[in-house]
Amino acid sequence: MFKNGRAIHVLFHYTSFFTVENHQNHENYFVKETVDIDQNETQSKVIVVKNITSFKELDVAKTNFIATISHELKTPLAASDFSLKLLEDERTGSLSGDQKDLIKNLKDDNQRMLKILSELLNMSQVEAGRIQLNIKQVDPATIIANAITAIETNAKEKNISIKNYIEENLPLINADEDKTTWVFNNFLTNAIKYSSENNLIETSVYKKDNNIVFSVKDNGRGIAKEYQPKIFDRYFKVPNTNEKGTGLGLAISKDFIEAQGGSIWVESEVTKGSTFNFTLPV
Ligand code: ADP
Repeated sequence: MFKNGRAIHVLFHYTSFFTVENHQNHENYFVKETVDIDQNETQSKVIVVKNITSFKELDVAKTNFIATISHELKTPLAASDFSLKLLEDERTGSLSGDQKDLIKNLKDDNQRMLKILSELLNMSQVEAGRIQLNIKQVDPATIIANAITAIETNAKEKNISIKNYIEENLPLINADEDKTTWVFNNFLTNAIKYSSENNLIETSVYKKDNNIVFSVKDNGRGIAKEYQPKIFDRYFKVPNTNEKGTGLGLAISKDFIEAQGGSIWVESEVTKGSTFNFTLPV
């Protein structure tokens, strides 16, 4: 292949997207489109190669920007969270009921912002191909138990009960405990968020073939078939979803699970509810 009269070396081809290194060792990105042309019983193909390097570079710049901003914002937010905790302490002076309510609201907002930032930070690390797995032997039941403890207050606020099924004698798995708990927690948070009050959520963990299956079943609003393939895409939210959210949680979950050799999927029916599942190899 030639560019500006100079030879460039093709690294990958036969895919819809490939990279090429030019004479300055600068990586260029291309997409290939093939058009079939039938002419007087002869068949020809036209191959169109588009250079998308500038878009790729913008994408990388955006990822770095998000990573920097979320990292920089975390410190002052964490500091203000600490100050709010001090304000709540009687030793810094007593507060009226209204003032206590205001502080509680500020703390909730702060926590929400910290959560969004940690999702953005996770996302930018994933995009930059920097998922660092900390693999250890873990009991699958521990993952579920820790994730449930973290959302208990959330569930109580909506009077949602959680039923838990853990198969007996499950083997230990080699997994990143924190990331896997994060994913299960994200399933649970969504199940609560998208269910009405006084509902039931069922979690289960069991062995199937050479995998451990983790699942969270809710009786909430469900997801229409047409949106199910998009649900794990970045920033995707089902249209008319009014609940607050970034649309990043499931995209990060997919990356975390696939990085560990597992798979992730949803089964859902509108108005009946959804079951979110992932597997990890034994
Ligand atoms: P968000 O922060 O918006 O919840 P997610 O990536 O976790 O981001 O989810 C993407 C979208 O998928 C949500 O905005 C919502 O529309 C839909 N969704 C996720 N979980 C459920 C569920 N259990 N029931 C119904 N819809 C869901």
